[in-house]
Amino acid sequence: MTMQNARGRRRATGPAAEPRTTVAVAAERPRDAQRQARNHRSPLRQVADFAAASGVGQKVGVALAASGLLLTVTVPATSPVMATADQSASAGAAAPQPQVSAEAAAKIDFSRTSVSTAGDPDGKLKQLLSAQSAGSISRAASVGSLGMPLTTMVKSSPFGYRVSPITGGAGEFHRGQDFAAQCGTEVFAAASGTVTFAGWHEYGGGNRVVIDHGNGLETTYNHLSSSSVQVGQKVTRGDAVALSGTTGASTGCHLHFEVMVNGEVVDPEGWL
Ligand SMILES: [Zn+2]
Repeated sequence: MTMQNARGRRRATGPAAEPRTTVAVAAERPRDAQRQARNHRSPLRQVADFAAASGVGQKVGVALAASGLLLTVTVPATSPVMATADQSASAGAAAPQPQVSAEAAAKIDFSRTSVSTAGDPDGKLKQLLSAQSAGSISRAASVGSLGMPLTTMVKSSPFGYRVSPITGGAGEFHRGQDFAAQCGTEVFAAASGTVTFAGWHEYGGGNRVVIDHGNGLETTYNHLSSSSVQVGQKVTRGDAVALSGTTGASTGCHLHFEVMVNGEVVDPEGWL
């Protein structure tokens, strides 16, 4: 308690990095009419737009006909699939197919986003983000690409419009997903990245950490009792970056977790 208060005051009055807020963003970057309109759409509509804009047809069409066996293709996460024409293996397909060599009796994956090993989630995320801008990634592709920020994930208040727990007013837009967590519970980085903010958020977030994962993807962790990272610090997925709390506009101990794509909050459920 003492720590969180001291930290809060120190951070609040310090000349350190300016808090990243929607107000600051608006000031730095004038919003065009389309952007305004987008912000006023319902969350449901936004999700629909989000999905529609992305085109789910991100498939790597690897056809294997010769053996009839399912094969595994292991492709390094950082390099593209080599597309060498191989008419003999394409079995009548019009377009040239990538030539692959793999051991028989293994399994092939048709989804580009899963062409990486399960043991390298950050490689998968990098590939996802480098293949297209973060704003055009489909929900189907992004689900599961971020790690869990808590060991035990107990959902409470969801993303989107809700009755404000602070004012009781209807129609408050809840910018993140809340997870129940006792104060002092370890909070983990959802993916590798760089800390771009660690301090007091003057607009309700309390003690807040923001991690930039690159290509327009950021995660934020709010109402923390304390944080253990500094601006500029590189973190690895799963690193403990903070302890949960109830600082700022909060009615009890919990973690308010946000995912931002190109500066706008999106439903974290689409990424966890
Ligand atoms: Zn919240």
